[in-house]
Amino acid sequence: MAALRTVTTLQELRQAREALPAPVGFVPTMGYLHEGHISLARRARQECAGVVASIFVNPAQFGPNEDLAKYPRDLPRDLSLLEAAGVDLAWTPTPEVMYPPGFQTWVTVDGLAAPLEGAQRPGHFRGVATVVAKLFNAVAPQKAYFGQKDAQQAAVIRRMTGDLDFPIEIVVCPTVREADGLAMSSRNSYLSPDERQAATVIFRALSAAKAACDNGERDAETLRRVVSGMIEGEPLARMQYVSCADYDTLEELQTVTGKALLSMAVFVGKTRLIDNFVLG
Ligand code: AMP
Repeated sequence: MAALRTVTTLQELRQAREALPAPVGFVPTMGYLHEGHISLARRARQECAGVVASIFVNPAQFGPNEDLAKYPRDLPRDLSLLEAAGVDLAWTPTPEVMYPPGFQTWVTVDGLAAPLEGAQRPGHFRGVATVVAKLFNAVAPQKAYFGQKDAQQAAVIRRMTGDLDFPIEIVVCPTVREADGLAMSSRNSYLSPDERQAATVIFRALSAAKAACDNGERDAETLRRVVSGMIEGEPLARMQYVSCADYDTLEELQTVTGKALLSMAVFVGKTRLIDNFVLG
């Protein structure tokens, strides 16, 4: 196995990138890596001759009252996991590299970024789209890998990639879950043992709604109520939103006819978790 090379500055990144064979696959992350991230790196390794991963906790995508300061970090562990997954190059820029003094250019996606996470987290997708555009410009990959866990993020990035003519194929990979169904997330590390147990209600609620849909229930409000009813039954959980939306437009549905995205955000204690299933 070839050694992982780690770079921080833009100049080092560009030099190391030049030396990689095409096609190059790119996996952007915020670190504190788990099996979900690593599944993206493995997929990139299978499909590409060169693999680049980035680790950057992007301040621009956190709101003022969100968890930027306490977001979990463990760079040495992350780098050894990336090396074991066969990644060639890790880019770990600092906030000063990404947002030098005087920075004032932003990428905004209108329609797809407005509902759901966009409505609850003003400015979040502006931060995401801007940093991903910058990462894409610097890494210049042929393919980039994202997780279905963040379904709206994947939709926003796909739209931005097309709209800004990035010659990059966006690959969306399945959500990796713990044995009890909880979607893997760096934020799961915030949960106390009781909260960790309570958080399994998210997967159970999504599964119950999917079972109802598989049994012929097509009324979107009924499906949303299946989810919210189960979440309300868990004392440690508080529903922020539940959505049953058209998969492509993310507009709320009355009736599920084609592909739909059933998604939600739930507070378990103080930790905000998101998850989704695709229906139809
Ligand atoms: P993050 O570090 O949270 O920004 O995530 C980096 C990438 O990993 C994003 O494309 C996420 O959608 C993806 N990801 C995070 N958790 C999972 C998971 N449980 N399964 C699959 N992909 C994931």
